Amino acid sequence: MPEAALARPVLKPGQLYIDGGWREAAGSATMEVIDPSTGAVVGTVADAADSDLDSAVAAARTAFERGSWSRLPARERARTLHRVADIMRERVDELVAIESLDVGKPVTFSRPVDVLNSADQFEYCSALAQTIDGSVRDTPMNAFAYTRREPHGVVGAITPFNFPLVLSSNKLAPALAAGNSIVHKPAPDTPLSALAMAAIFEEAGIPAGVVNVVTGGRPALGEAMLRHPDINKIAFTGSTTVGRIIASSAGQNLKPISLELGGNGAQIVFADADLATVIPSIVKGMVFNAGQFCMGAPRLLVEASIEKDVVDALLAELTHVPVGDPFDPNTAMGPMAAERHLRNVEKYVALGIESGGVVLTGGERLELNGGFYYLPTVVTGVANNSRIVQEEVFGPVLTVQTFRDEAEAIVLSNSTPYGLAAGLHTTNIARAHRVAAQLEAGIVWVNDWAMLDPAVPFGGVKSSGYGRENGHEALDEYTRTKSVVISLG
Ligand code: NAD
Repeated sequence: MPEAALARPVLKPGQLYIDGGWREAAGSATMEVIDPSTGAVVGTVADAADSDLDSAVAAARTAFERGSWSRLPARERARTLHRVADIMRERVDELVAIESLDVGKPVTFSRPVDVLNSADQFEYCSALAQTIDGSVRDTPMNAFAYTRREPHGVVGAITPFNFPLVLSSNKLAPALAAGNSIVHKPAPDTPLSALAMAAIFEEAGIPAGVVNVVTGGRPALGEAMLRHPDINKIAFTGSTTVGRIIASSAGQNLKPISLELGGNGAQIVFADADLATVIPSIVKGMVFNAGQFCMGAPRLLVEASIEKDVVDALLAELTHVPVGDPFDPNTAMGPMAAERHLRNVEKYVALGIESGGVVLTGGERLELNGGFYYLPTVVTGVANNSRIVQEEVFGPVLTVQTFRDEAEAIVLSNSTPYGLAAGLHTTNIARAHRVAAQLEAGIVWVNDWAMLDPAVPFGGVKSSGYGRENGHEALDEYTRTKSVVISLG
């Protein structure tokens, strides 16, 4: 079905998914779901109490110990995960409509980037499930020694608002492949696809209690997960601020954690780059998901001799980016996911202007249907130590800085506290390898941006966190090694 036929879904009240059943939160508390393209309340979901979390963890623990998933032969788990991928593809329209309504993503974007990518993730992890094995160790002891890779037990997955389905899939698919049970807490602003996914798990045949979803608006709910004695590992994606809280709590509770945190990537454009690929790449890095993208590129570092050519071409290209209703198939950029994100972007642009920045385009809201729209914005003339450059703006805003040589470009790229994604544009292959090796980031793109795939690991360095998602490395996050040594005496 073409995207043009997609209508905004009508929502039933969202309930908690615990132990294979749907239920209201204790006290029937609910929170509102807001359509960011209109600001209207379009539904409600349950607002879980700590007692609901306790029920979800107990169900996950019981399911893990029962073994109907954790001890299932890996090949059978793989078949079920493949069914999840198949059902996601069958229900692509439904999932696209939910994700676009909830986050404000254009339907032409959420189809490939959010939904089909998530299906690919489950398919990829279905294959990975069958690769979990140990190894025999050669030792001078009179013993037979080998290793086993075992699931942690109950994984607490805490996910952010901006890519709800993909980032949940990045955690749930490998965690399930390894045989864990899960308690998933999606972000309060965008909880819908986590519930849709739970229904798919049920249909695919994942046993009751193996995946549980608790929606809730209180930070205390997430904090209760960190402290919960029956949650064995926390997989977190979100801000660096909350990541620090999680790391502190993990220190107290000695719980293994993986942290996918904020980013503030830069695209370096050398004078020898091919502008035909540079400009679309810069646009992608700034307007992708309305700039609410941890792996976005809100900083442009351009060699001084070509600054005017690049900026002129960029400004011309930005006039062709259609901003508007996410359900219009011609839209390339929708609203911000919530009004507070819009206000945050306004704050950073004002700070940029205060510190001497000049807005070349945008710099204001787009008034449309009461939605939370902000125009693609380019700011030049900002100092490297200004907050708009150093901090995570998380909107469709690009700052432009120049450099004189390769060494300065590398210093500028590495100069923020973050280290998630970085990139460069050059036609010089030696320079591509040389610079890529010196950029402080978990992933480096050359001559494009945001090329992501379930097979390619990603994650951060510095304040962008630790741990890796995607690739076979993801399995390391959801398994632990046990050594078995059998005396031959
Ligand atoms: P956030 O940190 O505010 O919230 C993330 C999740 O943590 C939500 O589910 C939230 O309810 C929960 N939470 C909030 N306070 C908590 C607490 N005290 N204890 C436990 N859980 C708590 O992030 P956000 O605004 O939803 O998402 C945007 C941020 O996420 C940006 O910084 C972005 O860069 C980052 N992000 C990183 C990646 C990555 O892969 N590295 C991907 C997407 C987003």
